[in-house]
Amino acid sequence: MAVNVERIGLIVGGTQVPAKSGATFESIDPSSGKPLAVVSQAQAEDVDAADAVARETFESGRWSRLKPVERARLLWKTAELIRRDADDLARTESRDNGKPLRQARTDVEVAARYFEFYAGVADKLMGSTIPLGPGLLDYTVKEPFGVSGHIVPWNYPIQIGARGAAPALAAGCCVVMKPSSEAPLTALRLAQLAIEAGLPAGVLNVVPGRGAEAGERLASHPGVDQLTFTGSVETGIRVMKLAADHVCPVVMELGGKSPNVVFADANLDITIPGVANAIFQNAGQTCSAGSRLLVEAGAHDKVMQLLTDTARGMRLGPGVEDPDMGPVISKTQFDKVLDYVETGRREGARLAAGGGRPPDERLREGYFVEPTLLDGVRPGMRVHQEEIFGPVLAISSFTDVDEAAELANRTDYGLLAGVWTRDVNKALYLADRIKSGQVYVNTYGAGGGVELPFGGYKKSGFGREKGLEALNSYLQTKNVCVKFSA
Ligand code: NAD
Repeated sequence: MAVNVERIGLIVGGTQVPAKSGATFESIDPSSGKPLAVVSQAQAEDVDAADAVARETFESGRWSRLKPVERARLLWKTAELIRRDADDLARTESRDNGKPLRQARTDVEVAARYFEFYAGVADKLMGSTIPLGPGLLDYTVKEPFGVSGHIVPWNYPIQIGARGAAPALAAGCCVVMKPSSEAPLTALRLAQLAIEAGLPAGVLNVVPGRGAEAGERLASHPGVDQLTFTGSVETGIRVMKLAADHVCPVVMELGGKSPNVVFADANLDITIPGVANAIFQNAGQTCSAGSRLLVEAGAHDKVMQLLTDTARGMRLGPGVEDPDMGPVISKTQFDKVLDYVETGRREGARLAAGGGRPPDERLREGYFVEPTLLDGVRPGMRVHQEEIFGPVLAISSFTDVDEAAELANRTDYGLLAGVWTRDVNKALYLADRIKSGQVYVNTYGAGGGVELPFGGYKKSGFGREKGLEALNSYLQTKNVCVKFSA
């Protein structure tokens, strides 16, 4: 499907429509700071219209009461179309978000996998029978919530859009999705592909717009039966409050300050690339970024030397040139990241690599930040506690496994952790002690994650996405009890 990325409307009721007010915004290429596309800007009235269409479609049963196997086929077909257009989608994602092309290709592949995975379960959403004794039949059925609202951040637009939409659709919900205005293009494409695959009009609607307008309307809309929010803690709290006013259940996928714990016995051939990728992928703008390194004191100097070489050797450039690392998303984010580096230095951390704009003149106009290592970070420092959301690794040392566990848990977040060691006892001890939704051992984020339940402890959120557990967010259980006699 040819898509004009120069001007693109909202997707409501199966077609592209302009915002009712005619408002638009520019999506900016962060590699150049120049406009990439002009996108219709949804406001409250457009969210209302999308919700009304989704509601009508849901109540009609055209999707929610479709034979499950038919729903499965349409989701599978959507995955095929994502793969058909993978190259184009990846290039669009790379330009809109700034990420290296190969990372964008992975995101597109993962988006296709979400549609496949949930296609595979759409006809297996079974209830149970509960024994109550003679003369009584009790059974449960799983029913879709209804209209599911999705608020999506800019860092993985197609991947996170698909992560929420695919299980919601498999469950029989109709979806209204609000992508971030920083990077809305591939979420719009996703809806177009689903429609091309044959999803009935009104099943998947996409309304990009500003958080304060479209986002708040979606969160507070009485016609939204369930909400999935992915973004910062601050916005998540606001969204929860708005949703509470209409008793709307929420899934909260929030931020992180995830540690990679490296023991002196770790195999550094796999550890160093693993730790570097965990922080520098997507220029550090990943909720599950391994943004803290906790290294056993005996290995500190060796690890620092190898990491410094890696960071300094990374090639930066526009995402579509497929460098090692692209720019951060915006000028605001660029300033925020450099502010944090300065804060870290003022707090007493040592700048071991990076810390500024790269010297390359060609990159002057974009929002590029060098891969940055801050060593000597202590738990009280802001750079140890707060999510920077940029390519900045905060490094601390520990002397034994209990101190490692204590340091790993010393933030408000609890999304992911990595443990690198050859000693299975240390690995399992820490997997038990660390308070986070996911722990990886001698890898970080392996397997793409589609099948694995994902979500936070503590302020990283609640509810689970991915895997079979995600379906619980979109289904409610009805219990039916029947008394019978001869
Ligand atoms: P953000 O909270 O600023 O925005 C997220 C989304 O919420 C965007 O679509 C935005 O337009 C919308 N929004 C903003 N204000 C709103 C409001 N008042 N009401 C309703 N919606 C509003 O986050 P971001 O900067 O887009 O993304 C970065 C954050 O997202 C980081 O904290 C990151 O850790 C987190 N994140 C978490 C996950 C996860 O799965 N846990 C994944 C990706 C990103």
